[in-house]
Amino acid sequence: MRVMAQVAMVMNLDKCIGCHTCSVTCKQTWTNRPGSEYIWFNNVETKPGTGYPRRYEDQNRFKGGWALNRRGKLKLKAGGRLRKLLSIFYNPELPSLDDFYEPFTYDYEHLTTAPLSDSFPSARPKSQLTGRNMSPSAGPNWDDDLAGSGTYAAADPNLDGLAEQVQLEFEHAFHFYLPRICEHCLNPSCVASCPSGAMYKRVEDGIVLVDQDRCRGWRFCVSGCPYKKVYFNHRTGKAEKCTFCYPRIESGQPTICSETCVGRLRHLGVMLYDADAVLAAASTKDDKELYEAQLSVFLDPHDPDVIAGAERDGIAHDWIQAAQRSPVYALIATHRVALPLHPEYRTMPMVWYVPPLSPITDAVHATGHHDDNPDQVFAAIESLRIPLGYLANLFTAGDTWPVERALRRLTVLRTHMRAQQLGDPVDAD
Ligand code: SF4
Ligand code: SF4
Repeated sequence: MRVMAQVAMVMNLDKCIGCHTCSVTCKQTWTNRPGSEYIWFNNVETKPGTGYPRRYEDQNRFKGGWALNRRGKLKLKAGGRLRKLLSIFYNPELPSLDDFYEPFTYDYEHLTTAPLSDSFPSARPKSQLTGRNMSPSAGPNWDDDLAGSGTYAAADPNLDGLAEQVQLEFEHAFHFYLPRICEHCLNPSCVASCPSGAMYKRVEDGIVLVDQDRCRGWRFCVSGCPYKKVYFNHRTGKAEKCTFCYPRIESGQPTICSETCVGRLRHLGVMLYDADAVLAAASTKDDKELYEAQLSVFLDPHDPDVIAGAERDGIAHDWIQAAQRSPVYALIATHRVALPLHPEYRTMPMVWYVPPLSPITDAVHATGHHDDNPDQVFAAIESLRIPLGYLANLFTAGDTWPVERALRRLTVLRTHMRAQQLGDPVDAD
């Protein structure tokens, strides 16, 4: 066992209101420079939705990837050696600027200068780069801001009337927000794919950074990161990415997105893990076992053997204490209410999410005050609008049980807290 420490974040998705304060304060701090206009180290996506860059979750390398689709010339069906050979000449799986977005503002002047007419004038989008009117087709939260929130309708073969079908769809409509930063992965593919050695993972805290002096602008990190959280600055010719606000972390402060989060939903902490177990866990063959595999590399910071191992491996005493105090370990490993984003990418992400329970239904209200009535809790989970399968595809590579377990615990906790606040008798256990 080789003990290492890693900063980690857990976000509680039920509390995100999609205000984008985190994105804006991050941008003002880190990407408020020429060449980084389109870059959002922190973005907040609407789910279901296309994401930022668009379709980043739907990259099928053998169906062309972004750049190849656009060129339409070369259908790269071959893998292995041919693919490696071709990648020497160009890097085929890069999202283009259009897949992120062209920064735009609205033509507010039109609101006051438009001639009289029967309808109100509207402020049309215009490019911040060219000043021309435009029709944006992507953005850091395209689905929320411009495309209309995503909806999901459960197909019910028992319904044959259109009216009922429409009603069913409205009843089943849902959306939630997914704030995203770099995952500061335990097995970072951006680092593995950098030919210049510019991308690196810090030994002391696991933060993944780009050495700007060594970066040669190959952009293999951009194509190598499945979360698409490395960006290319077209002015400097270098890659840039979320730094986990390392200067703030080093001085004992939270990241700027955590500090300014309106919903107070970001929990920061330190996780201890067994570095010798990472590659074996990431190589787990069955996708559905990856969540458990990643859990298995985390070490209990209260375990005397782990503490002794951490001291032996040079982890500072205050970091061990931080791991013991951390809410992150409790949420991820003790209570298992936090889940990783797309563990099937096998990079071992370290930003985890408490899945959304909302919208709350009557069945959830009826669960009583404690988990002493499993049937009612089960009924509540069955009645949730967001299908378990949808959440499982996001967080556990399709395995619904860990999601259901997390939602059950959240349901019980919610009713318990509500009873406590209303002054009802509660079970102290
Ligand atoms: Fe690298 Fe992407 Fe993982 Fe961040 S999310 S550490 S950029 S592979
Ligand atoms: Fe969500 Fe907090 Fe960001 Fe607002 S600041 S969008 S509540 S994560």
